[in-house]
Amino acid sequence: MRTQLFVDGTWRDGGGGATIGVLDPATGETIADVASGTPEDATAAVDAAAAAQPEWARRPARERSEILRESWRLMNERADALAAIITAEQGKPLAEARGEIDYAAEFLRWNAEESVRISGRLSSTPSGASRVLVSHPPVGVVVMVTPWNFPAAMITRKVAPALGAGNATVIKPAAETPLTALFIAELLTDAGVPPGLVNVVPTNEPGPWFDAAIGHPATRMFSFTGSTAVGRALQAKSAQRVLKSTLELGGNAPFIVLADADVEAAVAGAMVAKMRHTGQTCVAANRFYVHRAVADEFTDRLATEMSAVVVGAGVEPGVGCGPVISAAAVDRLHRTVEAAVASGAKVVTGGSPASRPGFFFEPTVIAGVESGAEILDGELFGPVAPIVCFDDDDDAVAWANATEMGLAAYIYGQDLARGLNIAERLQVGMVGLNRGFMSDPSAPFGGMKQSGLGREGGAEGIYEFCETRFVAADW
Ligand code: NAD
Repeated sequence: MRTQLFVDGTWRDGGGGATIGVLDPATGETIADVASGTPEDATAAVDAAAAAQPEWARRPARERSEILRESWRLMNERADALAAIITAEQGKPLAEARGEIDYAAEFLRWNAEESVRISGRLSSTPSGASRVLVSHPPVGVVVMVTPWNFPAAMITRKVAPALGAGNATVIKPAAETPLTALFIAELLTDAGVPPGLVNVVPTNEPGPWFDAAIGHPATRMFSFTGSTAVGRALQAKSAQRVLKSTLELGGNAPFIVLADADVEAAVAGAMVAKMRHTGQTCVAANRFYVHRAVADEFTDRLATEMSAVVVGAGVEPGVGCGPVISAAAVDRLHRTVEAAVASGAKVVTGGSPASRPGFFFEPTVIAGVESGAEILDGELFGPVAPIVCFDDDDDAVAWANATEMGLAAYIYGQDLARGLNIAERLQVGMVGLNRGFMSDPSAPFGGMKQSGLGREGGAEGIYEFCETRFVAADW
């Protein structure tokens, strides 16, 4: 395990000598002390990135592409070691850590393919006075701030397109999960990424670190994944330098089960949408709106499935529900469930912290929730499923849209036209129609409203890390 900062292709301690204690959420014990970067370390990382970027941008796209493809190969080759690190510091079951690595690695391969296809445009002005040649050069130095819930994929989803387009990067991983980020820095270097292009600087002091990184005159872009509250605050700061930015923020995904849904399929989809990574995904099903005609059957079946999930440490065999990230998250979930019960909802299964060391909460189903209940307002970020009944599809759509979040939604129903019609009325960037999982590197991931700006993946993703320039020419 690497525990030092990675700046300009070298491993070094943080300038202040401080360290970050990394916990295993399955035990609550410290598993590593990682160097904590200072604002000066952030500045040094941007210096290194700025020095390395022009040569990288001048290289043929094919060379950058081959290095990304080799990174994809190495990530698969080293998947066992990486999965062990992800599970140790983040907590997700090993099988889910392997799933994250597949997803994370695919961003390296997808962007290896996209990076040789960045295209421009040639047109004539309507007056006929000149031609217009549009091209997409790299932005330059990109500062990236990433969350703990997908410690590998949230990095490759940004770094792969950024490098593919010819940029250099400075990454601040979440303090909870720096080991995965440092592992990836080493892997990319082994794959041939030159020094200075990928700098990883974890820190205990995110505020001053960020001010230094975005205050550096060479920084041109800020790319964030995390909560809406933090993203909004950092966006306001980066506006002082008019930085180009992409924001992948929080969600509050509705999961709508229509009267004609195949209930067995809907429950299978709900288990994926709710329980993947112990409910700690931005696209996690957060609110279940179920038509009254199928509500009892859906609730009973979901409760049966949820109560059968094995709760335990991610390294134990057969575990389907790992720990949540912290003791504070357990307390928050418990308080939220108790408040829902106090306002009239009923716990069908679970409802309490699991009685074992570490940060565990029981898989929980809550029925009889009113459409305006507080539990539906924010991200639960844990294994808790509140169910609201509806009688009219229009109510379900209105309730689904009654939030400032607009990341993802799920719809189950057998009439495809009806499902597509509802999908088009939902104010979200991504819809799973008869699917509990929609993410793929080939699709443009991202949200509407306060769930974000910009898209990661798809054909769109690499252009987020590009500028647009035109030359008006006569010939
Ligand atoms: P968070 O907002 O608390 O932290 C995200 C990152 O911001 C971390 O690296 C953190 O250290 C950093 N940070 C926090 N305060 C900062 C400050 N003052 N200055 C600079 N950096 C600061 O989010 P989290 O708890 O790590 O992750 C969970 C959140 O991320 C959820 O809201 C989830 O929905 C969201 N998320 C969104 C997506 C997406 O693609 N839309 C993907 C994954 C997670």
